[in-house]
Amino acid sequence: SEAMEREGKEVLRRLGLAGYEAYFVGGCVRDSLLGRLLKDIDIATSALPDEVMRLFERTAPTGLAHGTVTVIMERYTFEVTTFRKESEYEQFRRPKEVEFISDLNEDLRRRDFTINAMALDADGGYIDPFGGASDLAAGRIRCVGDPLERFHEDALRMLRGIRFACEYGFGLEADTWSALVRHAPLLVHVAMERVSAELDKMIEGRAPDRAIRLLIDSRLPRHFKQPIEWPLSRWEDCPESFRQDKLKAIGGSELRWAALFVLMESDPASAKVAMKGLKFSGKKTDTIGRLLQTNDWIKERTLRVASREKSAAVNADEAFAMIADCCVMVGKPVVRDWFALAAWQSGALGDNRFRPFVERGSEWLERVPVDRVNDLAISGSEVAAELDEKPGPWLGRLLNELLALAARRKVPNEREALLRQAKILVKQECN
Ligand code: ATP
Ligand code: MG
Repeated sequence: SEAMEREGKEVLRRLGLAGYEAYFVGGCVRDSLLGRLLKDIDIATSALPDEVMRLFERTAPTGLAHGTVTVIMERYTFEVTTFRKESEYEQFRRPKEVEFISDLNEDLRRRDFTINAMALDADGGYIDPFGGASDLAAGRIRCVGDPLERFHEDALRMLRGIRFACEYGFGLEADTWSALVRHAPLLVHVAMERVSAELDKMIEGRAPDRAIRLLIDSRLPRHFKQPIEWPLSRWEDCPESFRQDKLKAIGGSELRWAALFVLMESDPASAKVAMKGLKFSGKKTDTIGRLLQTNDWIKERTLRVASREKSAAVNADEAFAMIADCCVMVGKPVVRDWFALAAWQSGALGDNRFRPFVERGSEWLERVPVDRVNDLAISGSEVAAELDEKPGPWLGRLLNELLALAARRKVPNEREALLRQAKILVKQECN
């Protein structure tokens, strides 16, 4: 935004008044040339970290070892990093040590791609020693310097290259691409977390299907540190749907990943294994897992009903019961999100099985009165007391049965009705 730019310029000005050089650098210069909204502004300076900390009232020592200080201005914060050189690289990964220098050009030289290696001064003048602006205009991802060397230094750059190509709809310059294909095996040295973060950005980004095609073509996924059962080993088998940009038609990171697993015809269990390999957080794995579980379950049950009824359609009562069961299984919010996945399968994939859920799913969901044991109108201890029994594993099972019935509206979610039903269930159990 303009306010961010104004505050950023103020940082440059203050460093300048103190006798230091300072520039906007990296992603923000690239994005401003593209006329895109800036997410954040990174600043590079000849001042050393402690000098930066002395010049501004509010700072945070974000990464002193790498020369980075966060400067806190009125509304925005800025990462201010001392010009540096990355001398030695350790094992195809991040640099072993950094060396502070006084020359901007040297700082730009260590950056990965020409479009990321430009700087902008306080007066709006561009510093572009490697032809970043012309690569930007030509739609080209090109390494700064020798691509073989640069990918050898840090193999993650190969994934970054593909990500930027997809984000901007650019091509990869020939030497950069052939170095990438050649050095693909070096990816084995890169921590899976870094790999995963890049993949995530690609999947969430503007051209997820193309990202997958480029990954397949480059064969990078074969060389991930953690071999991933699915998705990547099988991407080669079915690139057809990715050629038609199917994934792009669904939004949101978790839904996109779920959709990807659907395209790969991956069952929920193997999806889980894949997500573990990708080091997804427990929460993310769980959400995606639940979406897939819902999807799988509805698909299977629809199929079963259809074969029994000898018709493709599921009737409304049956569909409502399915939705109620799913709510109990994965929770209402997940079922609500799943409707987006259903709509995508129905629309983009032309899978008719999901159409009733797309058309009437929300209505059915509204009618489900409870989806959690805690929301039942009677508590476990009350049930135990009323039945004059000690709580035990039986109680949890009983509550779950009550929940299943209440969710399907077979029993009203009211204290007396639930208690009556509890007694019936216990009696049945005994017989
Ligand atoms: P994004 O829009 O994804 O944030 P960005 O260009 O800001 O894009 P960052 O990862 O935030 O990317 O990095 C900031 C800058 O640091 C990059 O523009 C690039 O100049 C440099 N950089 C980042 N990672 C590397 C790397 N692995 N090798 C070399 N330079 C890098
Ligand atoms: Mg950035």
